[in-house]
Amino acid sequence: MDLNGVTEIARPAARSEIPAWQEGDGFLAGGTWLFSEPQPGLRRLTDLSGLDWPPLAVTGGALVIAATCPVARLDALEAPPGWRAGHLIGACCRSFLASFKIWNMATVGGNLCMALPAGPMISLAAGLEGSCEIWTRDGGVRHVPAEAFALGPKRSILEPGDLLRSLRLPLSALAKPAAFRRISLAPEGRSGALVIGTRDGTGLRLAITASVPAPVILRFAGLPDAAALAARIEAAIAPGDWHDDIHGAPDWRRQVTLDLAEDIRAELAEVCP
Ligand SMILES: Cc1cc2nc3c(=O)[nH]c(=O)nc-3n(C[C@H](O)[C@H](O)[C@H](O)COP(=O)(O)OP(=O)(O)OC[C@H]3O[C@@H](n4cnc5c(N)ncnc54)[C@H](O)[C@@H]3O)c2cc1C
Repeated sequence: MDLNGVTEIARPAARSEIPAWQEGDGFLAGGTWLFSEPQPGLRRLTDLSGLDWPPLAVTGGALVIAATCPVARLDALEAPPGWRAGHLIGACCRSFLASFKIWNMATVGGNLCMALPAGPMISLAAGLEGSCEIWTRDGGVRHVPAEAFALGPKRSILEPGDLLRSLRLPLSALAKPAAFRRISLAPEGRSGALVIGTRDGTGLRLAITASVPAPVILRFAGLPDAAALAARIEAAIAPGDWHDDIHGAPDWRRQVTLDLAEDIRAELAEVCP
């Protein structure tokens, strides 16, 4: 839809050209959400496409994904054989069930910044020990663990004027055996629960997403048995803390999360006893 309150569009080609933040500003990435509903109060958009960040790079021991990398571009990445968790990338990209237009325009950063429980890039980032690079409005840079980035639907740790620059997925996490489970109420529906497990020599790491407002990460020393796994999940997520919206009731989300987590535990027990 037309955003007829917007009177100015900035197209910076470098950080130094990003206009100083003012009330009514917003960043434009793929625009799939921005242009999907009225945006009262929005006066100026800063289009990130002119910054021309390389979408994907393997550097400094990590896969670095620019915030402006389209989800479709990430999905096309061919993971090297050593990335045992590489299948999570495509699985998460394809958990984004949207129309052709949205699928091709939506960016990884836009998906993270929306901080929706069913944000598949939030699941990927949290599941693979990602870290977010943030350009602050005062010209600084800060790094935060991706598991702490989303706070709840449409709420992230970004302060007004903060710009998400990139997501780094450590190669050490990409090398781990990993398992993925997802469920939605309808075949083409948004995720009701999306759980990712990874194993390493010391234990199991579980990222619970979509069924909770923001990711819940559980770390186990060694491989728990089924009862210990379930008890830990119940202890970490109180009955009132399961997400509730049209894509799934809290009691359903609780039950399917327990089931998916147990599936993951069993799968990773076989791969890596
Ligand atoms: C029909 C439909 C279906 C959808 N389905 C889903 C779904 O299943 N799951 C889901 O998670 N979302 C869904 N969405 C919401 C949205 O399309 C996605 O979250 C998408 O990934 C947003 O990315 P974008 O690049 O288009 O962001 P934009 O629309 O450009 O921006 C989204 C928000 O993030 C901010 N932003 C973007 N990039 C940055 C950055 N680098 N730094 C700081 N702020 C930034 C923008 O200012 C804006 O507030 C859907 C939307 C529609 C219309």
